[in-house]
Amino acid sequence: MRPFRYHRPAGVAEAVALVDAAPNAAYLAGGTNLVDLMKLGVQRPDLLVDVNRLPLDTVDPLPDGGLRIGATVRNSDLAAHPLVRRHHPLLTRALLAAASGQLRNMATTAGNLLQRTRCVYFQDTARACNKREPGSGCAARHGQNRDLAILDWSEWCVATNPSDLAVALVALDAVVEAYEPDGPRDVPLTGLHRSPGEHPERETTLAHGALITAVRVPALPFAHRSTYRKVRDRASFAFAVGSVAAALDLNGDVVRDVRLAYGAVAHRPWRAYRAEETLRGRPFTADLAARAADAELAAARPLTHNAFKVPLIRNITVRALTDLAGAVGR
Ligand SMILES: Cc1cc2nc3c(=O)[nH]c(=O)nc-3n(C[C@H](O)[C@H](O)[C@H](O)COP(=O)(O)OP(=O)(O)OC[C@H]3O[C@@H](n4cnc5c(N)ncnc54)[C@H](O)[C@@H]3O)c2cc1C
Ligand code: SF4
Repeated sequence: MRPFRYHRPAGVAEAVALVDAAPNAAYLAGGTNLVDLMKLGVQRPDLLVDVNRLPLDTVDPLPDGGLRIGATVRNSDLAAHPLVRRHHPLLTRALLAAASGQLRNMATTAGNLLQRTRCVYFQDTARACNKREPGSGCAARHGQNRDLAILDWSEWCVATNPSDLAVALVALDAVVEAYEPDGPRDVPLTGLHRSPGEHPERETTLAHGALITAVRVPALPFAHRSTYRKVRDRASFAFAVGSVAAALDLNGDVVRDVRLAYGAVAHRPWRAYRAEETLRGRPFTADLAARAADAELAAARPLTHNAFKVPLIRNITVRALTDLAGAVGR
């Protein structure tokens, strides 16, 4: 690991000013992703600005019934929080499906959203990777790409976003509160992560130096009827091969409203708007759920080794929605 400076700021404004002033500075939260990448030589910050002691570690109810989650709330604390468990079980499920107990005790809300891709070539400094080293090529495009994208990839990068929490938050229309060098800014979670395009090294729409301070989750009347279904190579402690976050509201058997988002299919957590449109206002059946997934996946362009993801996502969509429909009916 290369030498680096370390600073623990007294407040948010000081933290942002420090990172803004240093082109190669990074915020340090739980360190479960950043420190690993520093050890591998993938990230080489010369200044770490530690956000762990900033007062950003509470979960607070909002007047509209929603939640405001501080950036440094640990994944374990968020999953176990009574308001989250009661009103947003989707978040608890997504969080508990991720990593291990020890990692969740360290990992923070903002760190989870901004964790880097698990593409193996990104982590291997001997291989070409446009994300790590712009202009060097993409070893995954025609290499081992089983775990990578089927939607919205570019010739420059076919990586996926690995966060489970981000998929759930995208489904819930969450909003990121960022403190940028120019001042505070709200960023809808659906607009936080970028498509890879020609610049996969630019992963978010945040300005350099932006500090995420909180995530707001608006009230959703049917949020308690929601689920997260994740398929992975091992039963625990593994990243998603494909995942779905779903919430369903039925009026009789007619879909009054629905939320659907997919994980491990694209460079960003994927809100499945076409599938939602297909479902809304129609009597719910497993066949309708399958047609909804097909509508979303019509745009899929599988790589050499991951065509299986298309039926996988279709199947977990049907399963998640029929489970929810059954629960609503009871
Ligand atoms: C073995 C293993 C298995 C895992 N499995 C899963 C899994 O199945 N699902 C899953 O979702 N995750 C998984 N993870 C990833 C884990 O959840 C992330 O490493 C963790 O959430 C990152 O949070 P952190 O607080 O440690 O972030 P850090 O490592 O401290 O930071 C990550 C990034 O976020 C930036 N950052 C941190 N806080 C802020 C802030 N407030 N504002 C702006 N930038 C900030 C940092 O600069 C850095 O770039 C796994 C990790 C490991 C090591
Ligand atoms: S898919 Fe993206 S992260 Fe992976 S090697 Fe290609 S450019 Fe790098």
